[in-house]
Amino acid sequence: MRRGLVIGNWKMSVNRQSAIELVDAIIANLAVTSAEVVVCPPYLYIPEVSQHIKNTDLVIGAQNVAAHETGAYTGEISARMLKEFNCKYAIVGHSECRAYSDYTNISVAKRFCLAVAEGIIPILSTTETLAERESGKTFDVIAEQLNAVIDMAGIESFKNAVLSYEPLWAIGTGKTATGEQAQEVHGFIRQLIADKNPDIAHNIQILYGGSVKPDNVQDLLKMPDIDGVLVGGASLSADSFLKIYSSFQK
Ligand code: PEP
Repeated sequence: MRRGLVIGNWKMSVNRQSAIELVDAIIANLAVTSAEVVVCPPYLYIPEVSQHIKNTDLVIGAQNVAAHETGAYTGEISARMLKEFNCKYAIVGHSECRAYSDYTNISVAKRFCLAVAEGIIPILSTTETLAERESGKTFDVIAEQLNAVIDMAGIESFKNAVLSYEPLWAIGTGKTATGEQAQEVHGFIRQLIADKNPDIAHNIQILYGGSVKPDNVQDLLKMPDIDGVLVGGASLSADSFLKIYSSFQK
């Protein structure tokens, strides 16, 4: 049985004070469910948030990780640095990074490998644009993104990884994929992994991300291959984030 997983991606939408207020409000109202609950603050606030969540059920992750181990890479944050501040997870290849920065499937694969090497669980994000969906290329682009990482990291490393499907057309737009649309892609992703290793495919958590809100999360979680959600906008309010989290069974 795959455990539910809820990730709050705060992006660049908090400041130091609001980050701490948000984390305190989440901790104060955190009822236990069967799912694991994670917040991903901006890098700068990771040390403070990490300190605040000590001895609670809240877990910390990073929004990104560098594609290099160490050295002269101005502005980058390595997997080893994240590990020093107890990051359990790191999002790798988020749709926004793929769309707005010059990320390639290869640089995403490097980030994935470096996270795994440090014992950080990568949340490997796969995505598609609206044009790709409308021209029937969804499965091809998702397969390309996944295969680049499988080729570099090896399928065994997916034992310690999480996958997500986050259509760019649904991120921050208020448009959510329907449960059926998301399930179709999640099923495809699980089958692609199963073709290489059925056990890993059976156990790996696949999250949906894209305008998840308290009023649409149930439709998504009903689907057999949707194990959790990656939440952007709605994770900036403790109330809506906790409503989403409490959709998971106790
Ligand atoms: C995200 O940040 O991964 C995301 C899905 O954002 P939003 O929920 O705002 O669409």
